[in-house]
Amino acid sequence: MSFQQFNLSPAILRALQDQEYITPTPIQQQAIPVVLSQRDLLGCAQTGTGKTAAFSLPMLERLHQRASQPFVKALVLAPTRELALQIGENIKAYSKYLRLEHAVIFGGVSQHHQVQQLRRGVDIIIATPGRLLDLVNQGIVKLNKIEILVLDEADRMFDMGFINDLRKIVKLTPTSRQTLLFSATMPPEIQDLAMSILKDPVEIKV
Ligand code: AMP
Repeated sequence: MSFQQFNLSPAILRALQDQEYITPTPIQQQAIPVVLSQRDLLGCAQTGTGKTAAFSLPMLERLHQRASQPFVKALVLAPTRELALQIGENIKAYSKYLRLEHAVIFGGVSQHHQVQQLRRGVDIIIATPGRLLDLVNQGIVKLNKIEILVLDEADRMFDMGFINDLRKIVKLTPTSRQTLLFSATMPPEIQDLAMSILKDPVEIKV
């Protein structure tokens, strides 16, 4: 098994070579074709399984075709600043040969720098829910052209009390979006959330 088997652009494969990724992990083997086929996905996976690349690589593949359009096309929601920054670092590495801009948005710091970044125009936002909703309410971020929505560590977002923010954010995105939800555990609350925001999802468990 190698990354060549997927329909990924040479620019993405080259970035993976630079990262010294040789073999896709089990979640990557299962998730990448599903996400490329534009199906919704419910992924039960822990951190450390390679889930970030499992959703980021096909997301980048979808986006870079039309990269010159100046609006936010993908949104990744994460429970903490640390996870959001880590996802941002991964996306930066995987997209180094693509013309795609991203911003990482989180609370607990001044919004000034984040707003400046957003004003320059980004294709992808990686965010914690509270600060993102603040910026949406101020009219700084628009989510009406989101094509891909990812909820990462949904169970932790639930535990941290973000469920109402999550539901508000999801409502602001087009119903035509592709949605990917990852969670380490699947308690009833997460299953309810998944049922209400995913359309006929492929389920993957690693
Ligand atoms: P994650 O579960 O997404 O947090 O990834 C865990 C770690 O595995 C990160 O340091 C990734 O850079 C690394 N990683 C992800 N996919 C691969 C792969 N196919 N080959 C080697 N390392 C990988």
